[in-house]
Parts: sequence; structure tokens; C-alpha cells
Amino acid sequence: MVQKWEQNGKELVQVNRFYPSSKTCSSCGWINQELKLSDRKWTCKCGETHDRDINASINILKEGLKIYGKGLAITKVERKSDFNNEAHSMKPETH
Ligand SMILES: [Zn+2]
Repeated sequence: MVQKWEQNGKELVQVNRFYPSSKTCSSCGWINQELKLSDRKWTCKCGETHDRDINASINILKEGLKIYGKGLAITKVERKSDFNNEAHSMKPETH
């Protein structure tokens, strides 16, 4: 899988680093403005209890998929030589 990604260039989804992933309820989307860094677990208004890190990773994944779904992923070509090789290999007649 990883190798195929490498061959085709990389698609990168950037999630805004100010996105409040820990504070946002992954169930209902409510943002807990009261959440402190020391709070490892918290309970949302909707009744859902969250582990801070698990909740944050769910939110980052969801946000990433949302951005990806909008077609906003950046296709990143790492080196110019890779790009040229790819352009060559796409030509139907090479012989
Ligand atoms: Zn909630």
C-alpha cells in the first residue's frame, strides 16, 4: 500500500492545527470550551463520555476525511525528477 502511494505521489490532507480536536465532541460536535489540558476524560452535554486522546483522534480523522471528501487534498510531488519520470511513463509510444 505504502509503496503504491510513493509511486503515485502523495496525497496530503492538512487539518488546521487550531482545530479544537480535543474539545470537540466526536458524537454531536459540541465544543467544550471549559476543557483543560489536565482533563483526561470529559462528559459532553449529549451524555457521551470521552477519553481526551481517543476523542481527539476520532475528530482529526473525521475532519481529515471531510477535507478529503471535498477534494481539497493536496497532491504532493516530492521531487521534480519524479514528476518528469511520471510524465515520460505516461507516453504511450516509447520505442
Ligand atoms: Zn456530544
